[in-house]
Amino acid sequence: MTAYENLALYIDGEFVADGRKSQDVVNPATGEVIGKLPHASREDLDRAIASAERAFAEWRRTSPLERSRILRKVGELARERAQEIGRNMTLDQGKPLAEAVAEVQGCAEHAEWHAEEARRIYGRLVPSRDPNVRQMVIREPVGVCAAFTPWNFPFNQAIRKAAAAIAAGCTLILKGPEDAPSGVVAMARLFHDAGLPAGVLNIVWGVPHEVSSYLIESPVVRKISFTGSVPVGKELAALAGKHMKRVTMELGGHSPVLVFNDADIDTAAVHLAKFKSRNAGQVCISPTRFYIQEGVYDAFAERFVDAVSKIRVGDGLEKGTQMGPLAHERRVDAMASFVADAHDRGGKVLTGGERLQLGGGKGYFYAPTVIAGLPDDSRLMTEEPFGPIAPLTKFKTTEEVLKRANSLPFGLASYVFTTNLQTAHQVSTGLEAGMIGINHFGVALSELPFGGIKDSGIGSEGGSETFDGYLVTKLVTQV
Ligand code: NAD
Repeated sequence: MTAYENLALYIDGEFVADGRKSQDVVNPATGEVIGKLPHASREDLDRAIASAERAFAEWRRTSPLERSRILRKVGELARERAQEIGRNMTLDQGKPLAEAVAEVQGCAEHAEWHAEEARRIYGRLVPSRDPNVRQMVIREPVGVCAAFTPWNFPFNQAIRKAAAAIAAGCTLILKGPEDAPSGVVAMARLFHDAGLPAGVLNIVWGVPHEVSSYLIESPVVRKISFTGSVPVGKELAALAGKHMKRVTMELGGHSPVLVFNDADIDTAAVHLAKFKSRNAGQVCISPTRFYIQEGVYDAFAERFVDAVSKIRVGDGLEKGTQMGPLAHERRVDAMASFVADAHDRGGKVLTGGERLQLGGGKGYFYAPTVIAGLPDDSRLMTEEPFGPIAPLTKFKTTEEVLKRANSLPFGLASYVFTTNLQTAHQVSTGLEAGMIGINHFGVALSELPFGGIKDSGIGSEGGSETFDGYLVTKLVTQV
């Protein structure tokens, strides 16, 4: 069997696996079973809750300097182990090795950013009406948190939540993605080896809705953080609301790209093709609706299709691979159904549009695809594809494109290509999105807030906003 991460639960400072129900983990490039993932029993979940509660009593009182020291060590270890963690993520998630290694290296920065920000969790003194009264506003950790993270960036999504909760003085029970679990187990090992006390971080696995409802309903858990699809996010937020618990929700999007007549078309086409194929398009901020102004439509389409059709698809461990397989079979079926609808709605496939028979025919590969001429109410233009498909459509005026871009319930990322300052200002003001990239895509850095509006989510991760969801405000007024 291929060498792979030693999968486990992590509860109260111990990695445990034996004697539990388990599920197969499959390499999406080959269909080979590469590991067995243990599921948490009810007793395991109760133990995780009890250890997080016990640990919170101590952890909330640790100094920010101590939390900071551990997070810095996590960052250092992540850099040291990036090759090994990345390789295992390519095996279970499919992304090219260079992308997987870069994900881990980038996450070292998330750990370091939270190490730095932990030392700047300030309260304030409010001037009083009475000279004998002192009014103090204090920010305290919310308590035990539960987090649910997805399979597209297994390491990144988990460490962002863990670093924010832990740096704020909270403790955490995290359920990672069963389809691609190695990155989360590796992350737990980093925290363990960095000296995190037992119970501050716990990792569990299981049937997603069973684990999430059990944890959200537990009176011990005070805050929920989820990254995943809009329907699941709404379900979890509703359950959290029923129990008056705070939420951070990082949900799906359907990111419009606006390419104006005055844009640098060559650069836009090449960079968009590369960005679109990243992680085989399974990225919540992936560009997914391409609105091209009519004066440059033909030139852009030609260059973009040329760049997309040259993307080398293959096993992520093979040298030269630029795009790996989709993470699981259901994403391949989803792509086929989007393309079938596109055919029905009069769309023209300019490149791709089919499953690729790679990995001995057992891999979940889909060709990078460009489709033109779809109406705005087609499935591809209204539902997040979460895969390597790009629909191109024309627009005439700025007012028109803003209206069309804002017409969906999503509001995650948007991208604009223009060399006109006034246009850049007008569209960045008019677009309903949590993040807007103008002439580039730099929206996911540790020092920047990452989050959506409308159906795309509640709250931000990263930036100086990162602790907002993990702290509560307490007023102390003293005579
Ligand atoms: P899905 O809706 O079944 O699952 C999405 C994620 O949520 C998975 O990680 C899954 O394990 C988890 N999940 C599902 N039900 C859950 C529950 N009741 N409690 C806790 N976790 C639960 O879809 P999928 O086929 O796995 O992924 C495709 C869709 O997911 C895409 O359309 C995309 O919108 C969304 N997605 C978004 C992100 C993101 O970064 N925002 C990441 C991964 C997936």
